[in-house]
Amino acid sequence: MPSHDVLIIGAGLAGQRAALAAAQTGASVAIMSKVHPVRSHSVAAAGGINAAISVDDDWHSHAYDTVKGSDFLGDQDAIEIMSSNAADEVMHLEHIGVTFHRNESGLLDLRAFGGASMKRTAYVADITGQAILHVLYEQLMKHHETVARYEEWFTTSLLQDDEGRCCGVIARDVRSGRMEVFHAKNVILACGGAGQVYRPTTNALIVTGDGIAQAYRIGAPLMDMEMVQYHPTTLVENGLLITEGARGEGAVLLNSEGERFMEKYAPNKMELASRDVVSRAEQTEILEGRGVGPDGSGIYLDITKVPRKRTLEALREIVNIGKDFAGVDITREPIMIRPGQHYIMGGVKTDVHGATPIEGLYAAGEVACVSVHGGNRLGANSLLDTLIFGRRAGEHAAARAKGMAMPNSSDAKLREDVAEIDAIIARERSGRRVSEIKNELGDMMNQYVAVYRDEEGLQQAHEIVKRLQEEAQSAYIDDRGTVFNQDVLGAIELGYMLDCAESIVVAAIERKESRGAQFRTDFPAREDEQWLKHIDISLNGDGPAVSYSPVTITQWQPEERKY
Ligand SMILES: Cc1cc2nc3c(=O)[nH]c(=O)nc-3n(C[C@H](O)[C@H](O)[C@H](O)COP(=O)(O)OP(=O)(O)OC[C@H]3O[C@@H](n4cnc5c(N)ncnc54)[C@H](O)[C@@H]3O)c2cc1C
Repeated sequence: MPSHDVLIIGAGLAGQRAALAAAQTGASVAIMSKVHPVRSHSVAAAGGINAAISVDDDWHSHAYDTVKGSDFLGDQDAIEIMSSNAADEVMHLEHIGVTFHRNESGLLDLRAFGGASMKRTAYVADITGQAILHVLYEQLMKHHETVARYEEWFTTSLLQDDEGRCCGVIARDVRSGRMEVFHAKNVILACGGAGQVYRPTTNALIVTGDGIAQAYRIGAPLMDMEMVQYHPTTLVENGLLITEGARGEGAVLLNSEGERFMEKYAPNKMELASRDVVSRAEQTEILEGRGVGPDGSGIYLDITKVPRKRTLEALREIVNIGKDFAGVDITREPIMIRPGQHYIMGGVKTDVHGATPIEGLYAAGEVACVSVHGGNRLGANSLLDTLIFGRRAGEHAAARAKGMAMPNSSDAKLREDVAEIDAIIARERSGRRVSEIKNELGDMMNQYVAVYRDEEGLQQAHEIVKRLQEEAQSAYIDDRGTVFNQDVLGAIELGYMLDCAESIVVAAIERKESRGAQFRTDFPAREDEQWLKHIDISLNGDGPAVSYSPVTITQWQPEERKY
């Protein structure tokens, strides 16, 4: 039976950074991923990573911008840690081989990003995530003697010992269908977000909230789940992302009257206000009849303002995306975009070391909520979050493992998970298909739990989630085999997505104010007196229970948020 000091579930940036940090302490480490590590969703990250590197910048300014971007819901101790460590982390990445863009003087080039008071986003064209992920994977190879890699293994459950400590996982080898118990002194969840709860989304098909749901199911609280980011520039046709880097390079937003409407909503920052503000502005223009396209559901993003040579050099991926997915040459004509689901600010509640309230269980990256993003994440802060808190979780977990005995557990949970999978495979083809339920969930969330929300829509969303949870119990699949049976994994993922959806909806119903990404048309004001607090969701019996935790304020008192 495999056993490790530190077992990391997820091999995106958070997972790989955690693995490297833990391995450097000499701990026995393993990293598990349901896809090959360099196919993790981090590979899609485009625009860059924030750090106060420039000589006239200061990490305090980065921290303040992040606090303001979060609509004062972010925990300031964690934000200070992230911002003050950012420059060293980016320099470390460069030293191990990430080819960040340099300017003509040979210095690291920085681009403008939303909500930032100066240019502080380091980038590799518009493939920054890919560049970093591949370099980290090379580094992981160097540690092949101490880091075991379980590639294409799907974790189904977290294991707990009799005292409730997390002591390993149950996982299925995707290639063969074999199920196994993995013991570990510490488990770090680095499983990414839950974007597939929505349709459309910029997130890959594998981003199904597995880690969030698995932690929730063993009693770990989730935090800030109501805070779901809609990115202002996703393709009208299919929700694919056009990076904020485009606006950072000078692209502008236009309505059907050819007006640069951001003048009305954010006269100082214009298109580079924070994402919640820009998405709401676009949605308002669309709802008030100034949208573009056949049904008026789009907005023009005009990238022709950026010199063509610069677009071809620094935004080359979105040149391809424009051509391949919208038939538009973005260097010559505007492209139609609209707000689309992009990121989950909430996740498994952790402290600044990545530790959850369940002993032995850590979380880092998009699966986690250390609350550096609060109500709204600033673009290019997520890659930073994955690396800083991935490293910290890896170091802390490795230190905790020292002097601990390897835990043990019965194989009851293994038998339970095997039986559950067999039962899914054996289901009659009489209920609904898994994919139908997933599509209904995504469309519904995009209708009722999006940029604008209200009580009636949210209550309806809750009813629908509960019905879909019932229907998922008998949803059927086609593949009855064992080898690469993605169908059965899809059925398991549907359960995770429904748990995530329920916690998002319940938290959104609970927060009766507007802050960050949560805009309630029935409660349009921010109400610090009552709502300057986190909403925590925990599993109580069969359903979610709500509690609150305080926001940590170190040096920036809440103030009116204007851009
Ligand atoms: C199109 C796009 C562009 C973006 N651009 C930027 C940007 O420029 N800058 C920025 O800061 N942020 C950006 N983001 C956000 C950022 O990319 C993500 O938040 C971040 O990469 C998440 O990293 P992660 O390590 O937490 O998770 P991921 O990279 O999603 O990795 C999750 C890992 O968990 C594994 N996993 C999941 N479930 C299981 C399971 N059940 N069993 C085993 N393994 C499992 C997966 O296989 C994978 O290895 C972008 C996001 C998108 C969608």
